[in-house]
Amino acid sequence: MAENLLKFVSVERQSPEKRDATARRGDFDEIYQDFDPDRASLQAARCSQCGIPYCQVHCPLANNIPDWLMLAAGGRLEEAYEMAQATNTFPEVCGRICPRDRLCEGNCVIEKDFGGVTIGAVETYITETAFAEGWVVPPRPATELDQSVGIIGAGPAGLAAADRLCRMGYQVTVYDRYDRVGGLLVYGIPNFKLEKHLVGRRAALLADGGVAFQLDFEVGRDASLEELRQRHQAVLIATGVYQARDATMPGAGLAGIELAMDYLTASNRKGLGDAVADFESGRLDARSKHVVVIGGGDTGMDCVRTAVRQDAASVTCLYRRDRDNMPGSQHEVTHAMEEGVVFEWLAAPEAFLGDDRVSAVRAQRMRLGTPDAGGRQAPKPLPDSSFNLDCDLAIKALGFDPEDLSVAFDAPDLKLSRWGTLKISEASMATNLAGVFAAGDIVRGASLVVWAIKDGRDAADGIATYLRATVARETSASVAAE
Ligand SMILES: Cc1cc2nc3c(=O)[nH]c(=O)nc-3n(C[C@H](O)[C@H](O)[C@H](O)COP(=O)(O)OP(=O)(O)OC[C@H]3O[C@@H](n4cnc5c(N)ncnc54)[C@H](O)[C@@H]3O)c2cc1C
Ligand code: SF4
Repeated sequence: MAENLLKFVSVERQSPEKRDATARRGDFDEIYQDFDPDRASLQAARCSQCGIPYCQVHCPLANNIPDWLMLAAGGRLEEAYEMAQATNTFPEVCGRICPRDRLCEGNCVIEKDFGGVTIGAVETYITETAFAEGWVVPPRPATELDQSVGIIGAGPAGLAAADRLCRMGYQVTVYDRYDRVGGLLVYGIPNFKLEKHLVGRRAALLADGGVAFQLDFEVGRDASLEELRQRHQAVLIATGVYQARDATMPGAGLAGIELAMDYLTASNRKGLGDAVADFESGRLDARSKHVVVIGGGDTGMDCVRTAVRQDAASVTCLYRRDRDNMPGSQHEVTHAMEEGVVFEWLAAPEAFLGDDRVSAVRAQRMRLGTPDAGGRQAPKPLPDSSFNLDCDLAIKALGFDPEDLSVAFDAPDLKLSRWGTLKISEASMATNLAGVFAAGDIVRGASLVVWAIKDGRDAADGIATYLRATVARETSASVAAE
């Protein structure tokens, strides 16, 4: 099983076994099987150990990819895990759901001629082996400190910060308005991309390490930001972005037009065994319906693939640009096509048609204009090109904006950017309010899990620096007073 490196010339790129599309359509299980040990070490051995590891440069966490590939190729999996988790709080999550074609793998030096190394799959394999072998342990600090940190939001940003702060010895309480830990990892991203027990496993480790979770707790309703600032020496805001962008067009008020997050949350809750009235009533269930999903991002791809699994009569994705310009991962588009989703590229919705309920979407063909300074081509309508798509369920997946936290948190002094995200100092992740920090989508706008993890880790470091300075100030003040 121990493999020499530089095998990319003789060994082809291979991902773990992908389940057959027909079988995939019948359940919500993950679509890839686990890597077997031989294949994992052989694939890791394809790494060219190039001088400048562009994979690492393009990984938001700057993971030491060539080093853990080398260790995995040599069968030294415990060391590989130690190295992988030193920079990534949840390597098994990123290995599965990072859009790797745009990050590490897409920038692998051998990608162009030989196909890049299957970095994500090896990262997942290393971490799953670590769990199976009992190498993954709760975050236990060497010394416990008195100071406490309140974290608002149990998504990947909040959890990554909680893990790091707990390891440093701080008392950590995470507040979330959901009833489960995980944020979009649980209620947004479907099971076929990330099985929910993987998130529960991490939540249990954090709880074992001493992180306290207060769920069904909405800041703004159950406490103000100011109250949390009184309760803790520092507060981290990691609340994500949840205000759905909308499309105003004729017929927008008809029944049968739904928001992507409502639809995905209902499906994820069903999968977790919850009773969901709007699913049981058929409102958020695609079964036997002609489904049209508007939007070409990750959320849109999750909606079309969920609808396929709910046994929809047909599923169409409407996107106003072409495939090359889709914001969603190309891998996800491929999976969706294999599973029977029809893509109407270069097509934008004009109106929802129907009497009380939607019965069709009228769309218009588009072309791409000349690229602007940033290289982006604006879609332009083609005259007289309208067409109708049968539709009993239209799902709007048009992106998300932040809620206005200065209002929601009753914190009028909290500084926001012109996009409504929180303004922070990039060096410290601090907002303009003393002792209040921010991380994840609420700072970046809708982004990626790997960036949320990076922000959460950076914010934890910023908080620790702030708290150490506070202690030093208090100590010197009390010495001066004696
Ligand atoms: C459908 C969908 C699919 C996606 N797929 C991918 C993918 O494949 N790969 C990828 O990398 N990224 C994906 N993303 C993006 C990714 O999920 C986010 O970038 C990431 O979850 C952001 O993490 P976060 O911790 O900042 O926020 P979130 O995960 O949104 O967590 C925020 C948490 O804060 C809580 N909260 C909010 N307000 C309050 C309040 N007032 N009081 C208490 N708690 C509050 C929320 O309940 C939530 O639990 C996807 C996003 C969506 C919507
Ligand atoms: S965290 Fe994401 S970008 Fe970084 S190595 Fe893993 S899969 Fe690639």
